[in-house]
Amino acid sequence: MTHLANERVAYFNGAILPESEARVSLRDRGFIYGDAAFDTARTFAHRIFKLEEHIERFYRSLRYLRIEPGIGADEMARISEQVVERNRHLLGPDDDYWITQRVTRGIEAPEGDAPLEAGPTVIVECEPLPLQSRAPLFRDGIEVVTPSVRRTPPEALSPRAKTHNYLNLIMADLEAKARAPGAWAVLLDGAGKLTEGLGSNFVILHEGTLLTPEPRFVLGGISRETVIALARKIGLPVEETAIDLHDVANASEAFLTATSLCLCPVRSVNGQPLREGRVPGPVTEKLTEAYIDLVGFDFVAQYLRRLDP
Ligand code: PMP
Repeated sequence: MTHLANERVAYFNGAILPESEARVSLRDRGFIYGDAAFDTARTFAHRIFKLEEHIERFYRSLRYLRIEPGIGADEMARISEQVVERNRHLLGPDDDYWITQRVTRGIEAPEGDAPLEAGPTVIVECEPLPLQSRAPLFRDGIEVVTPSVRRTPPEALSPRAKTHNYLNLIMADLEAKARAPGAWAVLLDGAGKLTEGLGSNFVILHEGTLLTPEPRFVLGGISRETVIALARKIGLPVEETAIDLHDVANASEAFLTATSLCLCPVRSVNGQPLREGRVPGPVTEKLTEAYIDLVGFDFVAQYLRRLDP
């Protein structure tokens, strides 16, 4: 099969293939049940940030799901570097990639069919960051909505594992966007405490302290960890604790952390602006500068360059 010269390649079960040739079976449990784990890092100026931390979290998710990937973490990291390398020429000078590892439990043969030899399905793929569509978030701040859909409790399925089953988060995000186009969901838990969103962690500045939900109830975001470490370094107190809507209503600033965004200011929650008013607020701005220093790359400027003139 011929493929376009500008088609990306992906790692698929031991081989590097054009993306259009990397096909998952209709009997793959990752496809059928969301029975799989994944993790996603990003590049800054075409170099992967905190790959080791992402791969370690990935292997913790796999261990929790009792999926044996068949290759070790070092090999997974090497393949990830290789996939970015093999696709680097397709990036514009001011573009960057998301780089994602996925392992599913593999193919399930129907009862009565000959058993399959196949083990897990292992994929490593990359795609350009959606810089243009997300650029306005850095100019205006993110509108957050807390939908009626509640976050899956850890007693049911640990939110600390990054699995292919995102329906809970997707349903919440659909509701948030139906209420306010362009809004991002941050889900409440069963007790009305804020948790996280579809691909992001939530942080507020409340009476001079950064508050963010406890790691038992949310994915341990690598960007969340990065911000916590930076805050402590600049002497800003941080607490991992329960946050309710009263805390949010009285917060002076808020932001989301995520691999693609790093940290991005929140403009309002359920239609109410943060007390600070200015977006980004001074503390969010200081943390953003510290993040930019750490990664050696101005990701805010990268986003803002994509704004329509
Ligand atoms: N929560 C969820 C549910 C996520 O999918 C993500 C994205 N990985 C995050 C939080 C943010 O984590 P990170 O900073 O590692 O991207």
